[in-house]
Amino acid sequence: GKWVYSFGDGKAEGQSSMRNLLGGKGANLAEMSNLGLPVPPGFTITTEVCTYYYDHGQQYPAELKAEVQAALDAVGALTGRGFGDPKNPLLVSVRSGARASMPGMMDTVLNLGLNDATVEALAQGAGDPRFAYDSYRRFITMYSNVVLGVEHHAFEEALEHYKEGKGVSLDTELGAEDWKQLVTKYKAIVKAEHGSDFPQAPEDQLWGAIGAVFDSWMIPRAKKYRELNNIPESWGTAVNVQAMVFGNMGDTSATGVAFTRNPSTGERALYGEFLINAQGEDVVAGIRTPQDITEKARIEAKSDRPSMELAMPDSYAELVRIYGLLETHYRDMQDMEFTIESGKLWMLQTRNGKRTAKAALRIAVDLAAEGLITEEEAIGRVEPAALDQLLHPTIDPKAERKVIASGLPASPGAATGEIVFNSEDAEAARKAERKCILVRVETSPEDIHGMHASEGILTTRGGMTSHAAVVARGMGKPCVSGVGSIRVDYKAGTLTVASTTLKAGDKITIDGSTGQVLLGEVAMLEPSLSGEFATLMGWADKVRTMKVRTNADTPTDARAARNFGAEGIGLCRTEHMFFEGDRIIAVREMILADDVEGRRSALAKILPYQRQDFVELFTIMSGLPVTIRLLDPPLHEFLPHTDEEVRDVAQSMGVSEEKLRRRMTELHEFNPMLGFRGCRLAIAFPEIAEMQARAIFEAAVQAAKETGAPVTSEVMVPLVFTKMEFDIVKARIDAMAKAVSAETGGTLDYQVGTMIELPRAALRAGDIAETAEFFSFGTNDLTQTALGISRDDAATFLGAYTQKGILSADPFISIDQEGVGELVRIGVERGRAVRPDIKLGICGEHGGDPASIGFCQEVGLDYVSCSPYRVPIARLAAAQAAL
Ligand code: ADP
Ligand code: MG
Ligand code: MG
Repeated sequence: GKWVYSFGDGKAEGQSSMRNLLGGKGANLAEMSNLGLPVPPGFTITTEVCTYYYDHGQQYPAELKAEVQAALDAVGALTGRGFGDPKNPLLVSVRSGARASMPGMMDTVLNLGLNDATVEALAQGAGDPRFAYDSYRRFITMYSNVVLGVEHHAFEEALEHYKEGKGVSLDTELGAEDWKQLVTKYKAIVKAEHGSDFPQAPEDQLWGAIGAVFDSWMIPRAKKYRELNNIPESWGTAVNVQAMVFGNMGDTSATGVAFTRNPSTGERALYGEFLINAQGEDVVAGIRTPQDITEKARIEAKSDRPSMELAMPDSYAELVRIYGLLETHYRDMQDMEFTIESGKLWMLQTRNGKRTAKAALRIAVDLAAEGLITEEEAIGRVEPAALDQLLHPTIDPKAERKVIASGLPASPGAATGEIVFNSEDAEAARKAERKCILVRVETSPEDIHGMHASEGILTTRGGMTSHAAVVARGMGKPCVSGVGSIRVDYKAGTLTVASTTLKAGDKITIDGSTGQVLLGEVAMLEPSLSGEFATLMGWADKVRTMKVRTNADTPTDARAARNFGAEGIGLCRTEHMFFEGDRIIAVREMILADDVEGRRSALAKILPYQRQDFVELFTIMSGLPVTIRLLDPPLHEFLPHTDEEVRDVAQSMGVSEEKLRRRMTELHEFNPMLGFRGCRLAIAFPEIAEMQARAIFEAAVQAAKETGAPVTSEVMVPLVFTKMEFDIVKARIDAMAKAVSAETGGTLDYQVGTMIELPRAALRAGDIAETAEFFSFGTNDLTQTALGISRDDAATFLGAYTQKGILSADPFISIDQEGVGELVRIGVERGRAVRPDIKLGICGEHGGDPASIGFCQEVGLDYVSCSPYRVPIARLAAAQAAL
């Protein structure tokens, strides 16, 4: 085989498409050489050598030595130097480079080839002994650290000690003689720490460094990174060996990094930093403050240190020429590394630059407008999940952060408000137009109204799929969950973290994107949905084939979702309105009544509320389909808790508290998730479904009359596992539709369908589709019932499952395609076989997860439905899935 690929002097054996073989860095060095850019000559030892090395007990292929020697000779010929030549030495860098950029791999070694003899030649050649000995001590430090495993601080201590002795504080105050003496000390340190002399033979140095790169592929840090990022071990890393150019040769030399566009805003302008008379990592190491590249950036930063544009105008012009060329060539924003040696600019690296979501959006749209990429390519350039960052207020990056605690980034965005410790206080604050943050140990369905009333939610317990986290994401409110270091004392009305105690009414800020809890008010930036965002969304809408609806229970949610481009409601959970205001008392009456009469009289009180809710939803969705699910949760969730609540309900029903408590005991359930809920409620108490159907149809007639827009309602029966259940409930709904039509003289455009959320329903989808006009896959419950895992209790062990690789992701966040996905597939196939035009959608949390949306496209769903703030994410993900 061929193990080594050369580059330099306007040509290369490799090219950018050979990334798998040459690694990212090597492939792009080759590509830049082919483009005729100034790249110091060198060669890449392929990733196949790495694989070979590990397959053969850490031995190299037999031909490698000769191939490396030949490539070194070629570099020598191009530079006019010889590797190990004591008179005219070639010095090289040894750089690792995997396919995917991989922190944790071996650090770069610069100035390799220096020894006691070549350092003198370097000094003479440059006419600058200080530069030569500075390079030598850098080399000894780096090599000893990354190859021999000698800790940095041993050298740093010696340097500090030396400077103290001389009475100076800056490295720049040291001269050639000082570095020379330090080199002697450094060599002694290596001998003491490592047990043998610092290698003097350049050949030994080179193979030591090459071996260290390959060995670093298997160190725990690198393994861990691969594990976390799904990078296969079999990929291996390449090694790049490249002639040195020196940025530390005085004031006409420099080193720097630059982006072709601003990586945080996406603005089209060269952006970066450089350092005069410096080498390699000095820029990122933060030893000296780097200078701006452009004058514009310098002026904006109010820096008095000259920009590269002013200080080195020729090199600057060359950099501008090259960056334009690279961007046009790669058709993407580039992140470049360069070095200037005595006024000549050399390119050392280029790659597609990392960027914020905001920048990604702007760059994609700009590149398409500039004609560098197509609109379809632009759609693929933005990660859907990253849009989340853009839809919420964020903390101004310039603001000072007084972080007092950290938890999980459970729902993105930032919010400021005064602390409240319960939902009643949250509502009171909202009525008084004061912004608040709801702080709870954990939340439950009863806190929904308090969560609605607050700007954000903080819990001290619970994970990313806790009640607080799921509901907050649904509402688009920031949430930080599981802040274990905070103690909440409800009685005293305080929270304590370390030595800080805050009371109700004190201001805090939470950052749901980072999980930080901050003291006081912090400046925010508002999201903007116009400009590039709107443009890219428009392009996405043109190509996607699946519709995107929203899960919305309230007018606020519905309006937000319409704003984000929702094309209807895929799931309205009627019960979420039950906690609003005084309704809960009527709801409790209905639940606790022990006969039909009692239930009917309570239901009569609820009817007008429900009808009004639906009128509003139909009006907001004007003409778009609205799916309303009949009452689903176990009645037990609505039971009164406190003595006061029990008293209120008893009074309102005209029964004794004792009798009421007896009824409460009857309704208690051990496993409510698998209990008296879903269509089982409608089967046992048909009057509930009838009231809801009446509310829906009367609202439909009313909204159509008021707005003049047609209303398409879809009545959805939850938790069905057999056709007969569905048919019984459907008969009641159809009868109610007839009745309402007759009473009002209005015509109704409605469908009756079901959720497929139990494995048995997916299997019997063929029967069910005989009468059901649509299916909505309720993948939250389907996941719970298929895996036998309760979502609310999964946090304790799910982490261990994903860590051990038993599950590749949290199945409540990204659909388990193999298992739950197969049930969906079966449901789709069997349903369509019986009713070819059946409408198919998904309404679990998965409807807003990009990977799951890809799956929905694959199985052929007609739409996905997700929480309002995920609608844009779903639109983009659906477009990418369709391409
Ligand atoms: P990383 O992957 O950590 O960025 P690199 O291999 O890119 O590591 O090396 C880091 C820095 O070292 C480069 O940005 C460059 O400044 C310097 N460097 C690498 N090779 C050379 C070289 N041949 N001549 C001069 N500087 C070099
Ligand atoms: Mg680099
Ligand atoms: Mg369900």
